[in-house]
Order: sequence, then structure tokens, then C-alpha cells
Amino acid sequence: MTATIIDGKARAAALRADVAAEVARFRAASGRAPGLAVVLVGEDPASAVYVRSKGRATREAGMAGFEHRLPVDTSQADLLALVARLNVDPAVDGILVQLPLPPQIDANAVILAIDPDKDVDGFHPVSAGRLATGLPGFVPCTPYGCLLLLHDVHPRLAGLEAVVVGRSNIVGKPMAALLTAESCTVTVAHSRTRDLPAHLARADIVVAAVGVAGMIRGEWLKPGACVIDVGINRTDMGLVGDVDFAGAVEVAGAITPVPGGVGPMTIACLLRNTLVSACRREGVEAGL
Ligand code: NDP
Repeated sequence: MTATIIDGKARAAALRADVAAEVARFRAASGRAPGLAVVLVGEDPASAVYVRSKGRATREAGMAGFEHRLPVDTSQADLLALVARLNVDPAVDGILVQLPLPPQIDANAVILAIDPDKDVDGFHPVSAGRLATGLPGFVPCTPYGCLLLLHDVHPRLAGLEAVVVGRSNIVGKPMAALLTAESCTVTVAHSRTRDLPAHLARADIVVAAVGVAGMIRGEWLKPGACVIDVGINRTDMGLVGDVDFAGAVEVAGAITPVPGGVGPMTIACLLRNTLVSACRREGVEAGL
């Protein structure tokens, strides 16, 4: 085995501790706690688990968590009205509407309705535009977490070849934007990419965000590559990533496991974004 296993759980715990310390400073300076509003429409079991753990993590960090649980038949107009109230609520620094939404609601319309200055998920087109143009804004939590893990392995990313597999708005595209901003040479691969192994063969950094269990094979990797596996695939063997872990650890220099890699970073980065939002809104310097 050549690869160092990247401990996302430990890195996320360290970030959460840093956030909690900064929250205490923020509370002392502003007299209030940073506030995160989480909206869940319906009873989707996976979404309910995510919302519960986000609420728990928010409180553990010393922030105020506002949970809004709406029935599955909520109309789009009612959800938009709630978002409008949260946009102007001074106690709310971050707004997160848990996806997916029931079919009667257009998720894009809801994302567009969120004030970009409270868009801690980073899904609003204004957030995407700010990221693409280098303006301060919110970066989606999962790719931001991937970047922190990458920085632990490569403090300087400039000049490295990076291949991002997947081009979704929530992972692949923002990941590519972040790596471009770090001066990597970035290739974005997707389902129409011809000869993915040829691209991976020269990649110092691989970020896999596909959603196909074990599709990236160890023998496709450049020896010593740093591999960040975003994929979460439920199989008969349990949760697995998009990278064939057993093959990849024999070739890579560092790799994230699934579970225990990228996953824990996502909530930690959500807390970080909420703190940053609160600091911007109150004019308090953010220590993160
Ligand atoms: P999407 O389904 O939105 O995007 C998947 C991307 O993979 C698409 O761009 C698609 O290409 C590409 N793709 C599909 N098949 C292939 C292939 N054979 N070769 C190359 N590219 C391919 O997924 P997400 O980005 O939302 O999520 C990706 C994975 O990450 C999922 O497993 C998801 O569960 C996980 N995830 C994990 C998170 C975490 O916290 N750890 C958070 C978010 C997601 P095309 O555009 O051409 O269709």
C-alpha cells in the first residue's frame, strides 16, 4: 500500500473546534449567536437524517439553529414566503433549504429566492458567479471541504494537474473553479469524456464526484496522485465511493476513504460558512 489515508473525520472535528472557538469570540463581540435556518419539506428519511445532524452540529458549535419542518404538500408559494421571512430575519445568518424538494416545488426558484448574502450552501447563481470571478461569497460546502483536505496534502497547489470527474453545480463545477483559483491546471471530465484513463494518467489531483460505485480504477491513476472521493454509493457491501479503494491505495499517494473522508467535512464547512456570514453581517473580523 502506498497511499496515506486522509482522515476526514479528524480534519472535520478540528475545523468544528476552530469554528466553535470563533463563535465564542463572535458572541462576545456582537452579543448574539450566529444563526442557521434549515428548512425541510416532507419526510424523506435521508434528508431528515441530514437535517437532524446539521441541527445538532449547529448547537454544538454554539450557534442558534432554526429548524422549519413543512408538510410534504407545502406549496411553492408558501415555501417562498418562508424564505422571504428568513431573508429579512436579523437572527438568521444562513439559510439552507434541504434538497430534494417535492415535485410541486421548483428547486431553482427556491434557490433563486434566497438572499445571496445568506446563501451558506453556495447554490445561488450569484454565489456561483462570485466564485467564478474571485469575489467574496459562499463556496458550496462539499467542494470547499475537498479543498481543505487537498491543502493538508499539498500546501501549494499551483501548477499541479487536477482532474475533476463530474460537472454538477453542487460539486464538480465549484470544485473546478476552486482549483482554477489555486492555479491548478484543471480538466473537468463527465459522461461524454473520451478516454478518462488518459486524463487521469497525468493527474496529480483527482476529485471524483460521479455517483457510480468504484468506477475509477487504481490502475488508471498516476502513481502518487492525491485522490479525493466525493461519491457516496449505497451497495450490498455498504457505503462505497466512486473510486475502487482497494486498487487505488496501491497506487495513490493519499486518498480519502468512504465513509470518513469528504462526508464529515461538508457539515463542518456549513458551520464555517454560517460563521463567516454572521461576521460579514455584523462587521466582525472572521478568524477562519
Ligand atoms: P450528479 O449526478 O449531479 O453529477 C454526476 C456527474 O458525474 C455528472 O456530471 C455526470 O456527467 C458525471 N458522470 C456520470 N457518469 C460518468 C462516467 N461514466 N464517467 C465520467 N463522468 C460521469 O452528482 P453530484 O455531483 O450531486 O454527486 C456526485 C456524488 O457525490 C454522488 O455519489 C453523491 O452522493 C456524492 N455527494 C457527496 C457529498 C458529500 O457530502 N460527501 C455531497 C454531494 C454529493 P454528465 O454531466 O455528462 O451527466
